[in-house]
Amino acid sequence: MKVLLLGGTAEARALAAALHPAVEVISSLAGRVPDPALPVGAVRVGGFGGIDGLRRWLRDQRVDAVVDATHPFAATITAHAAAACAELGVPHLILARPAWEPGDALRVASNTEAAKTVADQHFARVFLTSGRSGVAAFTDSAAWFLIRVVTAPDPDTLPRHHRLLLSRGPYHYDAEYALLRTHRIDALVTKNSGGAMTRAKLDAAAALGVPVVMVDRPPLPDGATTVGSVEAAAEWVATLADLRR
Ligand code: NAP
Repeated sequence: MKVLLLGGTAEARALAAALHPAVEVISSLAGRVPDPALPVGAVRVGGFGGIDGLRRWLRDQRVDAVVDATHPFAATITAHAAAACAELGVPHLILARPAWEPGDALRVASNTEAAKTVADQHFARVFLTSGRSGVAAFTDSAAWFLIRVVTAPDPDTLPRHHRLLLSRGPYHYDAEYALLRTHRIDALVTKNSGGAMTRAKLDAAAALGVPVVMVDRPPLPDGATTVGSVEAAAEWVATLADLRR
């Protein structure tokens, strides 16, 4: 049984560890970040070349199943995997970590809408955590931004007033609380990534009464089989492997 595990997340690494070596797993990373945390087992890095490339790769490698454990906002690879698997009849599972409860966050559909909300609400000191590619939506914003990203965004996309914080989670409550206070943050912008690794900022914002602008997740492909935990994904693979025996 050979599984392609689309990764780039802590959940994907945990799933690779749960399956390896009983199941042959090839983890796939996009190759966006230098020095990524690597899962156990075989790893390939880089795009497949669109749906056609992915379809070809799945066929050439004789892959028996695909588990998509990419980030909830990695919508392109998720759509490609769903389409390629449907076309080839390859069993396909999405491991999507549960979303955060938005509570009384200002919910928006995109970073562009988040930037509009920041302007409309006259937020002045914004903690921007919606990812490197999301920064471009804020280029023309008048507010000051504390921008936390794993790798630096294109300098042309940075808003005029900002401070860049390059770091990688997990993050913890006390440090997040101190960060919001130190920088006198008056709004937090975040994607609804879900999971424990980056949720402390929400708890710190709630404790300080800092409003949250939350970008909703893109929808999952129609009809996709989806689970919310590493354990459930491992069980899905195990059941499939049993059926194939
Ligand atoms: P995306 O927009 O859905 O994908 C863009 C292209 O990158 C895809 O068409 C594919 O290229 C390639 N790609 C993406 N994930 C890949 C993977 N796991 N293996 C091989 N190729 C992959 O993805 P993204 O939002 O840029 O995210 C890239 C990666 O970073 C994902 O694997 C994701 O799990 C991880 N990540 C993303 C976020 C986020 O906020 N988006 C946060 C943390 C981690 P081809 O078309 O050439 O195949």
